[in-house]
Amino acid sequence: MSILSIALIIVSIAVSFNSVTSHAETAKRDYGVIKNQESPHAKLKNVDLRDVRWTEGFWAGRFAQTLDVTLPRLWKLASDPDKGHAIQNLRIAAGIEKGQFKGTHWQDAWIYKWLESACYIYSVTGETKLDEQMDEIIDVIAMAQRPDGYIASQTIARGWPRFQDPHHHELYTMGHLITAACIHHRITGKTTLLSVACKAADYIYETFKGRDPKLADFPQNPSIIMAAVELYRTTGEKKYLDMANFFTDWRGSRYGKGRRNAWGIVTGGSDLNQNWRPLRKETEVVGHAVFFTYLFAGAADAYMETGDKTLLDALERLWTDLVEKKMYVTGGVSPIHKAHPVRSFQPGRLSAIVGDSIHEGVGGPFELPNDTAYNETCGQIGNLMWNWRMLAITGQARFADIMERTLFNSILSGIEVDGDNWSYTNPLRWHGPEHILRSNDTHKRLDPGTRMICCPTNLMRTVASWHNYLYSVSKKGLWIHHYGGNVFDGKLADGRKLKLTQKTDYPWDGKVHITVDAVESGDPFSILLRIPGWAENAKLTINRKAVKVPCKPASYAAIERKWAAGDIIELYLPMPVRMIMADPRVEHTRNQVAVMRGPVVYCLESIDVPQGIRFEDICLAANAKWKVQHEPELLGGVTVLKTKAMVIDKSTAKDIGGYRQVSDVKPRRIDIRMIPYYAWNNRKEPKMTVWLPVRW
Ligand SMILES: [Zn+2]
Repeated sequence: MSILSIALIIVSIAVSFNSVTSHAETAKRDYGVIKNQESPHAKLKNVDLRDVRWTEGFWAGRFAQTLDVTLPRLWKLASDPDKGHAIQNLRIAAGIEKGQFKGTHWQDAWIYKWLESACYIYSVTGETKLDEQMDEIIDVIAMAQRPDGYIASQTIARGWPRFQDPHHHELYTMGHLITAACIHHRITGKTTLLSVACKAADYIYETFKGRDPKLADFPQNPSIIMAAVELYRTTGEKKYLDMANFFTDWRGSRYGKGRRNAWGIVTGGSDLNQNWRPLRKETEVVGHAVFFTYLFAGAADAYMETGDKTLLDALERLWTDLVEKKMYVTGGVSPIHKAHPVRSFQPGRLSAIVGDSIHEGVGGPFELPNDTAYNETCGQIGNLMWNWRMLAITGQARFADIMERTLFNSILSGIEVDGDNWSYTNPLRWHGPEHILRSNDTHKRLDPGTRMICCPTNLMRTVASWHNYLYSVSKKGLWIHHYGGNVFDGKLADGRKLKLTQKTDYPWDGKVHITVDAVESGDPFSILLRIPGWAENAKLTINRKAVKVPCKPASYAAIERKWAAGDIIELYLPMPVRMIMADPRVEHTRNQVAVMRGPVVYCLESIDVPQGIRFEDICLAANAKWKVQHEPELLGGVTVLKTKAMVIDKSTAKDIGGYRQVSDVKPRRIDIRMIPYYAWNNRKEPKMTVWLPVRW
């Protein structure tokens, strides 16, 4: 090598190091979970992470549990040499510990999501010990990073080559590293992790910018797209946005170029990771639920920066396909453990197209089985993140409705009510100890350290940051998307200070009491309150007087006035018990009903019906009368629903195999008690169902 080329290498290393340092140092801080304040195509802007504090009720309890129980528990598991081994893997990669890599390919992401959660909690507590704990692990991460920026203990600690198999999840773990680094910088002001992230992102950019066809499947679990946009927002470095765009545009780039799926149909890429067809041309949601929700969330992030309408049109089309045809009443978005789902009938073809082999994803239209539903918690978290971004883009309440449905039902169902154990899958019917397990099902809730599953840290960061999803600001004023006891002490979009207090027992009670504590003088502005899609006949008063603003379900009620300290807003969202039917094309729920109250989906467990009754014989009357009762000692405090149900057990012995004559069935009445679905499988292991047959 010549002296000149050595000199050039030294210069380029110095330039690259300087650019990393300067990106990290110039980053701005005062932003939320996503920094979209300057995004030109975001209608609504996030508020600062430190502007909202829980004060009382459901979410204050969940936040406290995250702080006291979940955060230390998941750290302990990560550092347990026999169970988690996640910290040891990074230490081995860093060369400061000897040993063998143990666990899943995506364990680094456990640490990065833990760090992100710790940042949210630190922003509230300011506890020095937690800050020091974060610094300690960040030092290890920095040491594990290779000089060129690559970091993934799953390959480094094993001495494996890079990018040999998409399943090694290298871009997934680095994506979570970058996201955690943006938040860490936002909260602490430090650039330690952000510098590692910039270096990793620079490496990824250089490796993938040529779009080598051999690498086309590697961004399969695409946390890297959201991460790249967030790093662009954090540092202002345009190439990170370019990186997000080329990863998005790359999907389906091999369409029609010779690759055949399992059924011999020429495709190009795989349905599993939405690589079958370019995103802008896709007509239906396919593949792995974490992959497609993260892809769509990342594309929505990119849209906020570029305003590329073709991308937004595709996301709208796919949202409608998912919500109308492929989503459970609980918000679950992955009915399938493993299958070759059928794509919709394509005009011009004689039969439906059979898709590639997929796992942990969506099926065909209206294919929503209950007892075999997969519904990995991370898929629903991806859906929540996607809908948050669509809400920011459009200001439309339907997106906040999906966030709420998903969070209260198929996300919270992933963790035991005491915060200890977890479920990987979230089925809607369970046959008790005899239930036949499919991939990642477990009879009892799982100690997550036994398998280091991805969902616990993902759920933890969602709960730890949920207060940042309650409000947005725009030129119009302050938007209130979600309800819970909290104080908002922040700024409007024009910089004026505003403080208000929300008091409510939501989701158990629909009364929300908001006091304006302080407001900086100036022009009138609006406070916009979301009227959930389920809330008929909502009422709104200001200073105890009715206001003439429309309170239509799935919209925002906008009250514009010159607000003053002491103003009181009272919102009343009636919460009758509602019996819900599915689209009749969903074969698995024909002539059955689910029960909801407010945003909460209910389920029946066999432990809550009289003994000696066959669980599967229980029906609800279409005109059932309900008693609503709050039970503070049950399952961490829940509102239960009681009614007289019907049992249709046989009264004669004329069965032929598994069949009997309707005329032989003599219905009788029994008492049942239904609990929120999220709290299922917390007492022994009873049978459970969300859907119950209905008698008209
Ligand atoms: Zn997961």
